[in-house]
Amino acid sequence: MRASGSTLGVPILLALPARSCGLTETAHLLDHLADESAGQCGPCRFGLAAIALDLREIAHVTPGAQAAASRLVRRLDAIAGRGACAHPDGAIRLARSALRVFRRDLDDHLRGLPCRGATAPPLFPLPGRAR
Ligand code: SF4
Repeated sequence: MRASGSTLGVPILLALPARSCGLTETAHLLDHLADESAGQCGPCRFGLAAIALDLREIAHVTPGAQAAASRLVRRLDAIAGRGACAHPDGAIRLARSALRVFRRDLDDHLRGLPCRGATAPPLFPLPGRAR
């Protein structure tokens, strides 16, 4: 795993259908990670949901998508290493990984090309979230 730039983490593996939006799925996961924190530190209380929102703005190709992409990079740098535990760092790694793996989708969205998966219900069976 390390040799491929990955780590052993949460034991979940889900193959995304081709029509899904990896950035939106990642936003759903980040919302869940924000909800699962105690919200007692700034990075979890304010950062994780904000990062999810940035990803959604990009995926939905809103008029503010370009600004969201710039803001997202700044937020990822600002949050890293700031939590009392490593929870937000794990979330940041997830977001950075999504930006790398779904680079082509990211570029398409920033060129104004939406995808149908952006408005689809979450694929991951997260507690308390509609599927
Ligand atoms: S950084 Fe850790 S301790 Fe602080 S709110 Fe997030 S999960 Fe809780």
